[in-house]
Amino acid sequence: MTLITERVERVRERITSAAQLAGREVSEIKLLAVSKTRSADDIRVAVASNIIDFGENYLQEAQEKIKKVYLDGLKWHFIGTLQKNKTRQVAELFDWVHSVDRIEIAKRLSAHRNLQLPPLNICLQINIDDELTKSGFKIKEISKIVEQVIELPQLNLRGLMAIPASKIIEIDQRKSFAKLRHIFAEINNRLDSNDKLDTLSMGMSQDLEAAILEGATIVRVGSDIFGPRLKVATN
Ligand SMILES: *Cc1c(COP(=O)(O)O)cnc(C)c1O
Repeated sequence: MTLITERVERVRERITSAAQLAGREVSEIKLLAVSKTRSADDIRVAVASNIIDFGENYLQEAQEKIKKVYLDGLKWHFIGTLQKNKTRQVAELFDWVHSVDRIEIAKRLSAHRNLQLPPLNICLQINIDDELTKSGFKIKEISKIVEQVIELPQLNLRGLMAIPASKIIEIDQRKSFAKLRHIFAEINNRLDSNDKLDTLSMGMSQDLEAAILEGATIVRVGSDIFGPRLKVATN
């Protein structure tokens, strides 16, 4: 067995234990393998361990890699900071965008999504701990943004995403995730049944247990699947 295969198994065990502790079905939680800076070969090993969903942060890197991996049935998720001039290519290449952080980006993604393709799945990124260094919508503006994004024809608004301030202790990690869960519930209370959100994209290598305990439906795991990142990713 390769190291990546073993690591995937260990991550799956962690997801299963956290789900059991939370009294949740493990099938509710999708494992997204964050493959930024990793090779096409690494991705193929993860695919052999039944990973289907991959997350990439940089458009050019993703374009080259997706071509190289060349396997049907995989789902590609854009999770990086999205620039205005890249929305067309992202809307064409990806199945999901987790990092929509401005209304203008949402409008452009919808306008650029090919009508032959199903609507692009998106999450709105929330700056959950109100950090100057992080992008994302402010908590108090989110309900207005949801109303606008729901009207965009080529987008399927699936839910919310956050990258909380890094914390060591699980109790502290859970506080930020709980905030996101509350916002999610409030939004869903107000939405019609066919518009309801079903995705909470939260939790990474360091804090996936805390995220699952607070309701994560997608955890985004890089280092604990592929090992420490050695290369610095470039745009
Ligand atoms: C890199 C990255 C991850 C994965 O982080 P790890 O700590 O390596 O698991 C998750 N989400 C986003 C948005 C990232 O950029």
